[in-house]
Amino acid sequence: MKFADILGHSSIKKTLINSANSGRIPHAQMVIGSEGSSALPLAMAYAQYIACLNKTDDDSCGTCSSCVKYNQLIHPDLHLSFPFIGSNETCDDYIQDFRKAFLSNPIMSFGDWLQSIDSENKRANINIKECRNIIRKLALKPYESDYKVLIMWLPEFLGKEGNVLLKLIEEPPANTLFFLVTENQDLILSTIISRTQFIKIPAYPIEEIEQFLLNNQLAGGDLARNAALMSEGNLNKAIKLANELENPQFELFRAWMLDCYLGQIYKIMDELENYTEKGKESLKMLFTYGIHMLRSAMLFKHQDLSSKLSAQELEFVGKLSNLIGLDAAKEIYDGFNKAIFEIDRNGSVKLILINLSLTLKNNLKSKTVQKV
Ligand SMILES: [Zn+2]
Repeated sequence: MKFADILGHSSIKKTLINSANSGRIPHAQMVIGSEGSSALPLAMAYAQYIACLNKTDDDSCGTCSSCVKYNQLIHPDLHLSFPFIGSNETCDDYIQDFRKAFLSNPIMSFGDWLQSIDSENKRANINIKECRNIIRKLALKPYESDYKVLIMWLPEFLGKEGNVLLKLIEEPPANTLFFLVTENQDLILSTIISRTQFIKIPAYPIEEIEQFLLNNQLAGGDLARNAALMSEGNLNKAIKLANELENPQFELFRAWMLDCYLGQIYKIMDELENYTEKGKESLKMLFTYGIHMLRSAMLFKHQDLSSKLSAQELEFVGKLSNLIGLDAAKEIYDGFNKAIFEIDRNGSVKLILINLSLTLKNNLKSKTVQKV
């Protein structure tokens, strides 16, 4: 992966290139970026640049023998580690799956990764056997490049077993580089954190995401804007939202709200459960969309939202704003967030939907007769 293949982040790319060319590459670096921020692709492009045989001042060549192997993640001096399922396995057992998943979506989320190996409801980790595997691999000399590189995606999945890597990270064998790519540094063993230098990757600006969706024809005018606004700087989420927004998510959401308002919370349950068959990411998108509608309803009387919402949505949000007071909005907002949290932790979809529907029913004012 070349730097040019990654959206934006121009100043970070410059910093990484300068570091690669300085001759003093820090041997253990923590790349910190929230989901959908391109942290992992940047680490890959950085490693590819370091190994490139024909690099320029601003990118790897993409065509030398090293880049060709990097492009397929099969370079013998590139070692990849990531969360997976099982205590007797190592990343070597999953490497084909990981290559395929990353190459088809370099900004995949952890949820996308588990979905790609049909393990959405299983507990992933980076186990002790994998840690020992890393120690063994890095004891070898580089085969083709000046450096061996270990890119570990989501070191937050290292349990205390990760402590066996401390010595290696602190005093690595010659010509060894560690790039740890995390979404949440607070979840990483402090003993590891203290041994690394940080590279912080900010979330993408909304405008940059909107432009990306438009340029790649992933969504047109209003939809691109909406998906970008709802994505909170997560490019992966924005692409999915753009896709979802093309679908009749709005109709399902409106029907759900109406049924909750009328107290018929079981009426739409089958339809909602059918929707979840598309995967739990779709359900999270529906809840995120709910939060977006709720926020818009709260802003409706104070802001002109016509550039941010479709005509249908605007009408719906206007009615919703008459039904929900501030306290109720807070309850509903918490309900959606709790549901997203529980979905991530593999809670029962049915129970989550019932609880959320009850919260909605109790907080949508029943005294107003007007239909939503
Ligand atoms: Zn090259």
